Amino acid sequence: MQRAVLCFLFLLSYGFAHSEPVMASDPVPPVKPITPTSPHDFIEGVDIPPSKPDATAHEATKETSAKPKAVDCEIDGATVEQTMPFNGADIGDKACGVAAPVKLLGIHDRDHRTSFSSPITVSCEFAKVFAEWLQEDVLPAAEEHLEHSIVKLRNGPGYQCRRRNNQPDGKLSEHALGKAVDLTGFQLGDSTFVSVQEDWGAETREGRFLKSIHASACKRFTTVLGPDADPNHKSHFHLDIGCHGKSCTYLICQ
Ligand SMILES: [Zn+2]
Repeated sequence: MQRAVLCFLFLLSYGFAHSEPVMASDPVPPVKPITPTSPHDFIEGVDIPPSKPDATAHEATKETSAKPKAVDCEIDGATVEQTMPFNGADIGDKACGVAAPVKLLGIHDRDHRTSFSSPITVSCEFAKVFAEWLQEDVLPAAEEHLEHSIVKLRNGPGYQCRRRNNQPDGKLSEHALGKAVDLTGFQLGDSTFVSVQEDWGAETREGRFLKSIHASACKRFTTVLGPDADPNHKSHFHLDIGCHGKSCTYLICQ
């Protein structure tokens, strides 16, 4: 009888000991391909060459764990629509998301305004850097090299929940954190169009304008990739403020 009780106790403890790890472990999510948020032009390729360091994974967790609240994001000379924080959980990747998002609709000063081909959804932090670059570097460079103001940018959407090479286990793109935008061209007041793909590298005023703003972008963003970077960027400039290297001081300008 005593033996039976001991045997029962043994089985009971064995059962608990072996069931516990199963109960404590996280459920394994099904592996799903990442679906881009929109069928946009700017979803191909990698944003950072594979040989470069990248430390975005921990940042994603940090940003998306913030409690939802509206952000106060005022940017001088920019038309900004504030939006609620969001992540990519609804499309299967909650590491994507922006804790302090804004929709950037355009920039303006007393004399003229520059609109975007579509609203740019990015973090407030990125929106400030981007708006300042346009106001202080790009518009003056257009006046200097092209003698016309820019009336419209041709741009990507900014935020896109995607990973490098669009692989489910690839590292997050800075687009997935609202810290990047892609630009393909600039519409001028005289209705000419400066195209990154067509005009980059040309010994023309359009080519010099593009070189000039690429150089000035490298002083404001942590990553600037253009047609010289790799074939994935032959049609556009990719600009981001991602953290590269342990101290976030590593810059990529190609
Ligand atoms: Zn990009």
